Amino acid sequence: MKINTAEFIVSNSDASLCPKEMLPEYAFIGRSNVGKSSLINMITNHKKLAKTSARPGKTQLINHFKINSNWFLVDLPGYGFAKVSKSTKATFQKFITEYFEKREQLTCAFILIDIRLEAQKIDLEFINYLGTIEVPFCIIFTKADKIGKTKIDAAVAAYRKALLANNWEEMPQHFVTSSETALGKDELLQFIDDVNHE
Ligand code: GDP
Repeated sequence: MKINTAEFIVSNSDASLCPKEMLPEYAFIGRSNVGKSSLINMITNHKKLAKTSARPGKTQLINHFKINSNWFLVDLPGYGFAKVSKSTKATFQKFITEYFEKREQLTCAFILIDIRLEAQKIDLEFINYLGTIEVPFCIIFTKADKIGKTKIDAAVAAYRKALLANNWEEMPQHFVTSSETALGKDELLQFIDDVNHE
């Protein structure tokens, strides 16, 4: 699939105010600074569709972008940023859990993981949470250009091990990406296209 049009529709902090249209929806989420905005801009061929925030953790909004008039790309706030207050964290949790638990259109969640890091507790907790509520998800490893090609397989294998230790039976579908080199772009878009045609 080629992305021809990517159109910003709405930002809000209330899951019930998301667009009413019944288009399949793909949500992107991960820790602040994981490379989410860069990845969204890379796959949509836009330099600034998703804004890279100067103050990470500040923009706590659900952003809907309509792609090729037939699916929504949803940019969710980055989690796990230490500087946000407890009350901000609680609000964040509430609207994010509402989104994941109630959004009928949600087709697949993409959890972004920095390929350079050991499995982080907060990501594993989030993955386990998605498992509990039975939301289909994939893992997107980001910033693969920052490690040598030979280290990629080892990093993925280490992540698989961490998931198995968390009672997952297998490694979920995953993509190894780089916003610098566009690695993984075609595979990711092909996956979305295939699911949209299922
Ligand atoms: P976000 O907070 O998850 O939206 O992360 P950003 O997209 O703003 O990226 C955080 C930082 O990582 C920025 O300095 C980006 O330039 C850098 N970055 C993001 N993706 C990549 C990548 O694929 N390769 C490299 N080398 N740097 C990246």
